Amino acid sequence: MIVFNDVSKIYDKKKSYALKNINITIDDSEFVFLIGSSGAGKSTLIKLLQSEITPTSGNLTVNGINTSTLSGRTLPKYRRKIGMIFQDFRLLNNKTVYENIAFAMEILGSPSKVIKKDVKQVLELVGLENKEKSYPNELSGGEQQRISIARAIINRPSLLIADEPTGNLDAKNSMQIINLLDAINSHGTTVIVATHDKEIVNKMEKRVIKIENGEILSDIQKGKYI
Ligand code: ADP
Ligand code: ADP
Repeated sequence: MIVFNDVSKIYDKKKSYALKNINITIDDSEFVFLIGSSGAGKSTLIKLLQSEITPTSGNLTVNGINTSTLSGRTLPKYRRKIGMIFQDFRLLNNKTVYENIAFAMEILGSPSKVIKKDVKQVLELVGLENKEKSYPNELSGGEQQRISIARAIINRPSLLIADEPTGNLDAKNSMQIINLLDAINSHGTTVIVATHDKEIVNKMEKRVIKIENGEILSDIQKGKYI
């Protein structure tokens, strides 16, 4: 469970709030869209979840852990529970699809036999089992995003955060990506998607939290893009 308890963030003391008195609870296995114009505070909220930054005031608790208490040893362990997906995919272009995904397991010291099995399984899940020897630049944008999703979930995170995952994709590929995130969510992973993509938000009818000027404007179950 994720609990923002009166969380505010000020980057620069002379400036205004990036987030102001945010109160949100997100239960395990929820699917949440985060919307709001540029500068609204979406990235700040995501960075707080990743514990890249900490609240100026208030508390953010994720699965019982107050993120402000994380440090040296506990921070990497905490981050392992969070999968990240970005608009620009961020795959390693000098590594194959297989190597890109396997790498995420190698750095955790997984045995190569387990890596082989899990990479195969996750490639099946994203529907790209025939692309393991390809390099990212040989794939379409939609395929690259599916690989980045495979990489993000390979270590079975409890939380998957997608920051504008469909920003570089056409409508058809965007729907495919969002359906994939929905399928992963239905296996129990909490999914948070920050987006400007009106079409996918309206199609999915999930919880929609709208942020504007650092404050929550609305928080609606089965919401639409507003
Ligand atoms: P969004 O992701 O919705 O576009 P952000 O969270 O990036 O919004 O930004 C919210 C506010 O915080 C904006 O006014 C932005 O200029 C400010 N901001 C974001 N990052 C920084 C930073 N590193 N230093 C100072 N101000 C920042
Ligand atoms: P089903 O709905 O029949 O379980 P899926 O295509 O959704 O089939 O899943 C295919 C396989 O991927 C399943 O064996 C499932 O356990 C596995 N899987 C599901 N979620 C993840 C995940 N986050 N990381 C790795 N493997 C997963």
